[in-house]
Amino acid sequence: MNLDLTQQFLTENDCYKSGRTIKPQGVMVHSTGVAQPDPEVFIGRWNQPDVAKCVHAFVGRERVIQTLPWTMRGWHAGTGTSGRSANNTHISFECCEPAGHTYQGGEMIGYNVEANRPYFDDLYRNAVGLTAMLCQQFDLDPLEPGVVICHAEGYGLGVASNHGDVLQWWPKYGVTMDQFRRDVAQAMEDSGSEDEEDDMTQERFDELMDSYLARRTQLGPSEWSAPARKWAEAAGIVAGDGDGSFRYRSFTTREETLQMLYQLKNM
Ligand SMILES: [Zn+2]
Repeated sequence: MNLDLTQQFLTENDCYKSGRTIKPQGVMVHSTGVAQPDPEVFIGRWNQPDVAKCVHAFVGRERVIQTLPWTMRGWHAGTGTSGRSANNTHISFECCEPAGHTYQGGEMIGYNVEANRPYFDDLYRNAVGLTAMLCQQFDLDPLEPGVVICHAEGYGLGVASNHGDVLQWWPKYGVTMDQFRRDVAQAMEDSGSEDEEDDMTQERFDELMDSYLARRTQLGPSEWSAPARKWAEAAGIVAGDGDGSFRYRSFTTREETLQMLYQLKNM
């Protein structure tokens, strides 16, 4: 999972200001419904009062920008036919669409599927990576029903308003939401095995620490401490290790500190 994730919170948005929180139980995927690939444009437009919508992140081709704390309640789903809202349960992100198309009755008009394939592949990878990261962070299973859903699915489940995203777009590439959920689960598995390789054991840490400390004893003292060293050695405040090394660049233990103070007191 290689995600370029930065934060620009929409602090001027009324949603952010209302400051309500959720315990995330899922992730809802949206797309903006506008031919505008630049997340910054949306952030500029949404970071002000009276916008009446707010999401947790914008996913672009190159990067992901988080725009609300993950546990803050977003305004992205509206209310569904059940009277419930995924705003209370789901973290949300908007996928930025490439330039060049328009909309008519919820359908993309003039969208060039092949020319936009590299854009889609990159954006999709970011969407998978972000969702996998969130599922890991909040201990969610993307394959469980209702956890990872798009806006259109949320409408079907009665927890979101009647929008078609992302099913007006992603299926043009043969990507279903089931496929997305499987890809998220796979990304989580892959990153889990990476973590295991990196796992630091106590034994390994101790080994590295011992070797670090041993190397420090080999370091010579700094020039600036020469007068102090000369004085301390002459006064017998530091005694060295008996082999001629004073280990000047090593750490001092509490008992060594006390011993030095004791020597000083008895000067
Ligand atoms: Zn939506």
